[in-house]
Amino acid sequence: MNARTLSKRLAQVAAFIPEEARLADIGSDHAYLPIYLAAEGIINYAVAGEVAQGPLEAATEQIKKHGFSEKIMPRLADGLAAIQVQDQIDTITIAGMGGLLISAILANGQAGGFLSKQERLILQPNNHVLDVRLWLATNHYQIYDEQIIQDHGKFYEVMAACYQKGCSYTMKELYFGPILMQKKSLIFQEKWQKELQTKQKILSRLKNAHESPEAKVAELNKQVAWIKEVLT
Ligand code: SAM
Repeated sequence: MNARTLSKRLAQVAAFIPEEARLADIGSDHAYLPIYLAAEGIINYAVAGEVAQGPLEAATEQIKKHGFSEKIMPRLADGLAAIQVQDQIDTITIAGMGGLLISAILANGQAGGFLSKQERLILQPNNHVLDVRLWLATNHYQIYDEQIIQDHGKFYEVMAACYQKGCSYTMKELYFGPILMQKKSLIFQEKWQKELQTKQKILSRLKNAHESPEAKVAELNKQVAWIKEVLT
């Protein structure tokens, strides 16, 4: 992967960025995403936020190498603290990290006053996707689009959300993704078919165990029933 040819995962994140976006890419190791979006003429400008010095230097070097020093500003900052009011950021991307870290970045950013609620959030957690959706739902963000892709044998979910007071979700919608479960793409079905097999294996192991934790078995049974429902 480089700034000209993004990975399938980052290409899906890029596909959610609207024309003329004023972007903050948080955790912008190498700045591949903002450089690609600038080269394609999609973004107006970008802030590339990084908490670590090494990745920030890599991002700065790539930005210079591609001639976008006027359009992409590398900034050393923890999470959304990279955003300054005068940037008038309207799109935030946080990709390629664990879902718990993404949720913490959003929570800290909100507590620190770095979210104006006008920004669209494009999020791509590598795991703990439910935690990210829970953060969005609890904080009145509506998930207006989602996509699931497979890259090098791994499933990745990308979600796009904006602030919308009054929206609400069921736990089942948050578990599968409210849009993903409507789209029911082949990749979505493949992912949940695999999850179903894994959960059924765990359940049969628990049934044969001396003491099976009741709450865990009940939770797994509920998830298995949900997955079967969604896959029919
Ligand atoms: N976003 C790129 C992608 O999707 O390929 C890079 C992902 S890389 C695995 C994660 C980057 O996030 C690292 O460079 C790390 O230093 C940075 N990071 C982790 N926590 C951060 C935080 N709180 N604020 C800003 N950057 C952070």
